Amino acid sequence: MDFKYIVVGAGFSGIVMAERISTVLGERTILLEQRNHIGGNAYDYYDEYGNLIHKYGPHIFHTTLPVVWNYLSQFTDWIPYEHKVLGSIDGQLMPIPFNLNSLHLAFPSKMAMRLEDKLIDGYGYNVKVPILKLRNNDDPELQFLADYIYEKVFLNYTIKQWGVSPEELSPSVTARVPVYVSRDDRYFQDKYQAMPRHGYTQMFENMLNSKLIHLMLNTDYKDVLSVDLETGEITFLGQPFDGKLIYTGPLDYFFDFKYGPLPYRSLRFEFENHATNSYQRVGTVNYPCDYDYTRVTEFKHLTHQQSQSTTIVREYPEPYEREKNLPYYPIKNDANAELLGLYHADARRLSNVFFLGRLAEYQYYNMDAVVSKALKVFSQNVCGGPQDT
Ligand code: FAD
Ligand code: UDP
Repeated sequence: MDFKYIVVGAGFSGIVMAERISTVLGERTILLEQRNHIGGNAYDYYDEYGNLIHKYGPHIFHTTLPVVWNYLSQFTDWIPYEHKVLGSIDGQLMPIPFNLNSLHLAFPSKMAMRLEDKLIDGYGYNVKVPILKLRNNDDPELQFLADYIYEKVFLNYTIKQWGVSPEELSPSVTARVPVYVSRDDRYFQDKYQAMPRHGYTQMFENMLNSKLIHLMLNTDYKDVLSVDLETGEITFLGQPFDGKLIYTGPLDYFFDFKYGPLPYRSLRFEFENHATNSYQRVGTVNYPCDYDYTRVTEFKHLTHQQSQSTTIVREYPEPYEREKNLPYYPIKNDANAELLGLYHADARRLSNVFFLGRLAEYQYYNMDAVVSKALKVFSQNVCGGPQDT
């Protein structure tokens, strides 16, 4: 046992930790991953038609954080890419987030001008207003607009995606896609927006390119490692292990579901190849009101790949069932907060285990947030020294 660190999960969180431990501390790490590949949900690969696709749905990288951008730039070059989304609404394609350009597509020009003036007077220009906040506006015309956007953009999409209406979720969920008082059609306004030039998987391989990292794929950690949930004592392959464990799998699974399962939403992805150069105008088209799927993404927009054909993916939301599909989205609402609190309290008692990432923290994190958190936990808790990136 000449290693002091075991990392469970080779997604963004686990890979950043394994990379930091090997590069900064010069220590050996065992990295356990239950899937047959690295990268977690950000894994990409070339399909049978030679198109680079994202196995677990489209992953668009964006961040405001220089620390995250600089860190990842050590392992990849980038292709500039600013994501654009159109929503198919009443037979028209209009920018999402709903903005002033969408407003002018949705309504006759005089009415659109009046609504535009009211939005700018009320909120300012280049301001993002969550739909649930806009719905509280006292002005009858803005209330009418808010109801329109709520009905056409949010209500059915959210019911499809989550199985419940926007009010039954944490307001932070729909606030991710606010009404934007602006003519900026981009989905994100972050300073850094780009895609790894040779894909996420290649970037992850570069991060793990160290003799100090021993990767074990196809391994559910419980088959090789056990943790005494009272004392925190760890056994690895039948031997006591007195190092540190970084855990990035589901929080409830770690604790054998002792307080019950934490609910998740899942997705089914349907990929389709078309023998044409281009399928749709932008990276993603959302279908808030029609069909069972929520959105269609064409990968070539994201990757700028030149190829004879094009591959798209449709996302069909579905309930999460263990053994059947994967836990993609933590369902953040008041009812689950209490359950989460119980697991968090237990997790805090285990001083040799670090819980990190979307599943282990049960947080609706984007990739950059996960990287930022992993870097912080490494420097403040695992390494105990100042961050060196
Ligand atoms: P994961 O990627 O889930 O990695 C956890 C790893 O742990 C997995 O590989 C899993 O197999 C492994 N594991 C779990 N249990 C065990 C076990 N028992 N034993 C061993 N290994 C185990 N973010 C963005 O910034 N932009 C986007 O456009 C974007 N799009 C997304 C689209 C979808 C459909 C989804 C689901 C997420 C999206 N995200 C996006 C979020 C992004 O996927 C996450 O922020 C990021 O991948 C989280 O990394 P992680 O390492 O915490 O978790
Ligand atoms: N949303 C919606 N209509 C849209 C886009 C988003 O109702 O056209 C809501 C929906 O509830 C969704 C949430 O906003 O789950 C967050 O959207 P985002 O695009 O950030 O979701 P993700 O990319 O994480 O799946």
